Amino acid sequence: ARERTARADRMESLGQLAGGVAHDFNNLLAIILNYADFLADEVTGDAADDLARIRNAADRARSLTSQLLLFAKREPTQVEVIDLNEVVAEAAELLSRSIGENIRLVSRPAAEPMPVRANRGRLDQILLNLVINARDAMQDGGVVSIETDLVEAGHYVQLTVSDNGCGMTPEVRDRLFEPFFTTKPADRGTGLGLATVYGIVGDAGGTIGVESTPGVGTMFRILLPSAAAEITSTAGPARDEHGHGH
Ligand code: ADP
Repeated sequence: ARERTARADRMESLGQLAGGVAHDFNNLLAIILNYADFLADEVTGDAADDLARIRNAADRARSLTSQLLLFAKREPTQVEVIDLNEVVAEAAELLSRSIGENIRLVSRPAAEPMPVRANRGRLDQILLNLVINARDAMQDGGVVSIETDLVEAGHYVQLTVSDNGCGMTPEVRDRLFEPFFTTKPADRGTGLGLATVYGIVGDAGGTIGVESTPGVGTMFRILLPSAAAEITSTAGPARDEHGHGH
C-alpha cells in the first residue's frame, strides 16, 4: 500500500509539472504559428515549402501539448449516470472505421445495462487509448475485443479490452501506467495514454489491472462501481468527481 501511495504522489507531481510546461509551451507555439501565418503571405517557392514544414511541426507540437494539458488538468468534470454499453457501442463503431484493415474490432456487451457514474468524454478517452494501444501492439493485424460484464455480485461494472498482439515483458508491465513511459518512437508515443486512463479510472472510484504474455497478447480489465442503485433511488443533485455539489 505504501508503494501505491508513493507512486500516486509521483504521478501527481509529474502531472503538475507536465501541465505547467505544457501551458508555457502552448503559448510559445501560438507565437510561432502566428508569425508563420504572417510569413505565409510573403514567401513563395522553396521557402514556402520550408515554412509549411515549420507550421506542420508546430501543429504537431501543439496537439502534443494539448494532450499533456488534458492529462494534467484534473479539473472537475460533469458526471452523469451512463450505460457503459452505449459508450462501448458508439466508440466501437467509430473506431472500427478508423483502426485499419488488418484489425478486427469485436465488441461483446453484456445483455443487461451497465450503469456507471462518470463523464462521457472520459469514458471515450479510456476506450480510445486502450484500443489504439491494442492496434499498435498488432502490427501484423489481429483482433481487439471489448467486453462488458457485471461482477462482484453486481456491485461493479467490468470493462475488458484485449488483443492478441505482441504482449509485454514484466519490466514494461510494471511501468506502463507511469506518465511519459513509452516503448514507442518519439513521434508516435507520448507515454501519457495509460497514465491518463489510470487517473480517470481512479477518479471514478474504480481499479485497473493488466494481464499480458509476450507474443500472446494483453488484456486490460477495468472495474467501475455500478450506479444501478442510483437509478432506482431518488435522483440526487448532480455532483462532480470530487463530490462537491453545484
Ligand atoms: P504510448 O501509447 O504513447 O506509448 P501509453 O501510456 O498508452 O503510452 O502506453 C505505454 C506503453 O505500454 C506502450 O509504449 C507499450 O509499450 C505498452 N503497452 C500499452 N498497451 C499495450 C498493449 N495492448 N500491448 C502491448 N504493450 C502495450
